[in-house]
Amino acid sequence: MPVMTEIPGRLDRPTAHIDLGAVTHNVQVVAQHAPTAEVMAVLKADAYGHGALPVARAALAGGATELGVTTVDEALALRDAGITVPILSWLSTSGYERAIAADVRLGVSSPRQLAEVVAAARSVGRPAVVHVKVDTGLNRNGVAPHEWAATRDALVEAERAGTVELQGVFTHLAHGDEPEHPFLDVQREALAAAAADARAHGLRPTRVHAANSAAALTRPDLHFDLVRPGIAIYGGIPVPGRDFGLRQVMTFAAPVILVKPLAAGDGVSYGHTWIAPRDTVVGLIPAGYADGVWRPLSGRFEVAIGGRRFPQVGRVCMDQFVIDLGPDGGGVTEGDTAVLFGDAPGADRASDWGELLGTIDYEVLTAVRGRVAREYTGER
Ligand SMILES: *Cc1c(COP(=O)(O)O)cnc(C)c1O
Repeated sequence: MPVMTEIPGRLDRPTAHIDLGAVTHNVQVVAQHAPTAEVMAVLKADAYGHGALPVARAALAGGATELGVTTVDEALALRDAGITVPILSWLSTSGYERAIAADVRLGVSSPRQLAEVVAAARSVGRPAVVHVKVDTGLNRNGVAPHEWAATRDALVEAERAGTVELQGVFTHLAHGDEPEHPFLDVQREALAAAAADARAHGLRPTRVHAANSAAALTRPDLHFDLVRPGIAIYGGIPVPGRDFGLRQVMTFAAPVILVKPLAAGDGVSYGHTWIAPRDTVVGLIPAGYADGVWRPLSGRFEVAIGGRRFPQVGRVCMDQFVIDLGPDGGGVTEGDTAVLFGDAPGADRASDWGELLGTIDYEVLTAVRGRVAREYTGER
């Protein structure tokens, strides 16, 4: 029996239930697949929309030893909340002084950025702990090949001057979710060569890292010293078609706030894009595209109520949408809970919405926002 998230009997608003026990479990699953590596839990974008602080604690309970974020502000919010473990921030272009003062490690992608970090370290009066990001072919951030030698030389000089400690050499994969893709080998070799070159010049990185969730779960040759899972922690689908026993963390639910009969021929919602084909009963859900229920899903998804699925009809609006309960009303009453996606009987997964929308579960999860309440179950 899968463990189902406890949804309280009655909701008064759209709610994202976050199962922290599932976070802990999912980190353990990743750690079991990468037994020789440390686990850095990736908490960027408010932990993919799940809440960075509670997810951080649950991930650490599952065996993560480091945390990864995009911006310095995200890192400092965790520090301010009392998180003391290593945190790496890899995509900020400012805030270096505050980061260094708070012992936040910085990803560096160019000699110019390194110079700014060095200046910040001087002004704070302590060395910056740096992970140099190497562009091994994703062609996003990372030190480009033509700037590698200059960056490495500047790192050597900064270490001599005591302004930098080069702790990490890392990269990000272009085809992580395709475990057989030959480009993974190209990137592995390029990262290993950069780390070897750094060492040959006297640098002593202790953390070489490349693997996102998919590579952490499928490619031991990419584990190096540390893996950086994100979507796996949230129970998404890191590799399409593969099941690793991960548990969904977010269950997105909302109350049915109004139930009413419609006659055959009645139109529903803006533009009357749906006309009742028969006498029926409809229910109203107070969640819309401002909450992460995408308007392009209009008329294309189903919610689960008490394990039964009911189709959404008419346009999804900013604040609400309508479901067709059928001529007999499906036994649904006002106050019942409709599960939009997540870990509940009959419910879609975030990845099902992703398929309908031509996107991925990452985007579906991070879109749940604004007025949506967050409720946590499990250790906080
Ligand atoms: C987002 C991110 C990750 C996590 O990726 P998943 O596919 O969610 O596991 C790892 N590393 C970097 C640099 C990232 O930006």
